[in-house]
Amino acid sequence: MKAAVWYGARDVRVTEREVTPPGPDEVLLSVAYCGICGSDLHEYADGPHSVPVGKAHPASGVRAPLVLGHEFCGTVTAVGPAVRGLAAGDRVAVEPHYRCGACPRCLAGEYNICRHFGFAGLMGHGGLAEYATVPAYMAHRLPDEVPFEQAALFEPASVALHALRRGGDADSVAVVGLGPVGLLTVLLAARRGIRRIVACDVDPARLGLAARLGATEVVDARDAGEGDAGLRVRAACGGEGADVAFEVVGSQAALDTCLSATRRGGRTVLVGLGRRVSFDSSALVDNEHSIVASVGYRDTYPELIRLVGTEGLDLRPVVTSVIGLDDVVRAGFSSLLDGGDQIKILVSPSASPSAPASDSAPDSDSAPVPEARTPAAPAPAGRRGDSR
Ligand SMILES: [Zn+2]
Ligand SMILES: [Zn+2]
Repeated sequence: MKAAVWYGARDVRVTEREVTPPGPDEVLLSVAYCGICGSDLHEYADGPHSVPVGKAHPASGVRAPLVLGHEFCGTVTAVGPAVRGLAAGDRVAVEPHYRCGACPRCLAGEYNICRHFGFAGLMGHGGLAEYATVPAYMAHRLPDEVPFEQAALFEPASVALHALRRGGDADSVAVVGLGPVGLLTVLLAARRGIRRIVACDVDPARLGLAARLGATEVVDARDAGEGDAGLRVRAACGGEGADVAFEVVGSQAALDTCLSATRRGGRTVLVGLGRRVSFDSSALVDNEHSIVASVGYRDTYPELIRLVGTEGLDLRPVVTSVIGLDDVVRAGFSSLLDGGDQIKILVSPSASPSAPASDSAPDSDSAPVPEARTPAAPAPAGRRGDSR
């Protein structure tokens, strides 16, 4: 099979690899789509960050070279002898969190913070390939009503949904940073009936898309003076500030914006993958602000399957292009790093020139994926740090 394999920074090769037959508790699937994530870009641009090099990851037993891609779905082609409830022909979405099932956090149901924290496609082999072998617990069977193009977005949508849950009840929210996860946070916040949703970014095209996805106000951080974006977001939240702010960039500026946009007693949720940041602890205490972190997700796939399958949720507006596997470096990683108008790129391994392209879309009756939108302003450094 063909696969996109990480060998090192700026060294991802599309090469031939053996298909791994499923172990007793694993399933083999033919990949329909795999999204490219900000964390894949980090590995490509200046990794390794999460990819195990030298020593195998304890959850996967794998080290580099490693097949990238953790946002994938496909059709089961074989199952291991111990697998129950899944069979060849089942369409599935992959929830790529590894979990040991035995540590205190797993036993408490909080498997996203398992002691063997990791993701297939970053710490083990993933889905940027024609076939993928994953633990059966990762596979969620899809009803016919859920097209693969939507199922490939369940992973970033799960990050957004878990962040919203970590934020708790809110009447007003601010979303700072409109990469795929930020945009999906806006969409899911609107779906939850949150009355006031203020979206903030530096890119007019993304602000426009956020408004179409349900943001009630948008704030262009470039129009605000230095340090003023938070005050403008606060004003857009009716002056008092947002109940909850989501930091979906991973930067000092975005954190500052969130903290000054949040109301007294409010909460800032850290979703972006940043470096070391600082804050004024006395201001935090005076305002009784909480900062909480959100990593990965748990128990989100069933809710997303229901929202898409029976309640008409459409995640596809964040998709800007669909490419073949052979194009993953040029039209995928490089194009996203260029800071152009791409938001979420899906890779369709069956669209590779090496495979017949005629019936490449297994769910070809679903709506077409929208084309790229209007040109965007250059991206500031760090903006694409949307978290996994
Ligand atoms: Zn565990
Ligand atoms: Zn991701």
